[in-house]
Amino acid sequence: MADYRELPTPIYDYEISILVGYYRKALRDINDQLMRIDISKMERAQLLAVQKEIATIVGELDVDMKAWVKANMPIAVTDGVIRSIVGLGVVSSVEQARTIVKLSRLNRDLVKTAVADTQADLLQVSQNVSRKVRVAIRQVTAEVMRSNLTQGINATSSLKRDIIAELRKKLGDSLNTGIIDAANRRWKPHDYVDMVVRTKMASAQREAAMNDALSRGAYYGVISRHSASDACRYWEGKIIKLAPEAEGDYPYIEDLPRREIFHPRCRHTITPIRRLDALPDDLREINDMTER
Ligand SMILES: [Zn+2]
Repeated sequence: MADYRELPTPIYDYEISILVGYYRKALRDINDQLMRIDISKMERAQLLAVQKEIATIVGELDVDMKAWVKANMPIAVTDGVIRSIVGLGVVSSVEQARTIVKLSRLNRDLVKTAVADTQADLLQVSQNVSRKVRVAIRQVTAEVMRSNLTQGINATSSLKRDIIAELRKKLGDSLNTGIIDAANRRWKPHDYVDMVVRTKMASAQREAAMNDALSRGAYYGVISRHSASDACRYWEGKIIKLAPEAEGDYPYIEDLPRREIFHPRCRHTITPIRRLDALPDDLREINDMTER
């Protein structure tokens, strides 16, 4: 009977903070550009110059983002494979696993699609920011034009200062209006980026472990435990099937309710296991396997 061996859940906080830092800096730089605009005039030449600067900032952000995703997604996939080969006892340590790990065709494809998906999702963030900024500049320009037209009627210089402050705020706010996800939740751009990469890396890591396990004839997994407080807690330590055809009354991983487990930002992962009789007592208890 093989020992059950579960590795700690990989944490990508440091790497992700670097990526999020790119977005924070870009948004700050864009904001600086917006604040440069002389709102009382809204001169075409200045607006064009500012818009050009903003396009450059966004372009550089996208280049950095793509490189980050390309460098980091393979790490998540490799971690999944390591989790599987250590869990299944193919090797006895992570260090050993690192020396033999080689991505299968399936996992190489997984890297490619995970990289492309994540880049596409994150490109939407910068496109969204560009669009909102463009719209705000257009609106503010129109309002300034209108207020200049009516100035002869009732404008006092203090009123004008109010308008300027308000319009300046409108420009700045265009960066914070956020992104709405598929579930209709609104995110600030950098929070959204954090959520997307966390979720995609966790899912790539799980899928890689699953691919590796299946290729070695292991059809079960155990969900990791970290004393979660959300709905995931009901799933901690639970056995799941990695293939729908596997024997036993356990849920298939792809059929798990995503509201409860493997939701966005979920830190839970799986450890592949070949034989359920290798489970330690605490896990047997969680899975109602106490009788032998
Ligand atoms: Zn979770």
